[in-house]
Amino acid sequence: MPPRSDYLPRPAGIAVNNAQARGWGTGWPKCQKGRMAVVVRAGVKVFVRKEIAPLVATLLEATEKRYGYDVKSGQTWGYACRAIRGSQKPSNHSWGLAIDINSRTNPMSATFKSDMPPGMVAMWWNCGFYWGGWYRTRPDAMHFEYVGRPGDVSRHLAAARKHLSGPATKATGRGEFSGPPLRLTRPPTRGDRVTWVQERLNVKGAAPKLATDGVWGPKTDAALRAFQKRAHLVVDGIYGPRTHAALAA
Ligand SMILES: [Zn+2]
Repeated sequence: MPPRSDYLPRPAGIAVNNAQARGWGTGWPKCQKGRMAVVVRAGVKVFVRKEIAPLVATLLEATEKRYGYDVKSGQTWGYACRAIRGSQKPSNHSWGLAIDINSRTNPMSATFKSDMPPGMVAMWWNCGFYWGGWYRTRPDAMHFEYVGRPGDVSRHLAAARKHLSGPATKATGRGEFSGPPLRLTRPPTRGDRVTWVQERLNVKGAAPKLATDGVWGPKTDAALRAFQKRAHLVVDGIYGPRTHAALAA
């Protein structure tokens, strides 16, 4: 099993368990069962919200084909009309926006445990799914939940199709998409992840300090290049995996 440090670090500033605010309507206890669709792929059958069904199908297929990770039936689920365990808060499973994969080898536990290839986790994240393995108090490595809005699905589906069409990769490493996952542009242009990069550049000594406004402009570009120079990276202004790792460290 890969150590936790092999995986992409927990992304900052992502609002989870707020699906209603993201435009998905009500969850538990007013579950919208009629809005679920069945996905039969990678040897399993799961129910998820119909809008994300093609996305989940593509990711399940890519999980097996590209990362060689066997998705197992009997321990892989989607929709469940319930609260988060031990709480009165609706689970993302109650919207059909979460999926648990291979529960036996990825148990919810006080100590982190997962047999998933790190690249696979990076792929799901790149396609809009936050990983339960990132939870601070009780890691839940089987769990992936969609943190996008309905309007984000087509972009994430396009990203998933791109992953699926790539060559099979080794089961190690953080995957080819370990940069800013929700908006994969190089350099990123705008959005939450840019705010995170700006915050990290400030922590890492950007002078003058950057405004954390989520806009990738000349000042952020200059600060990134200065950081790359200090970190002995290639000074190209490109926000790639190495720069991301150095900034996240
Ligand atoms: Zn779950």
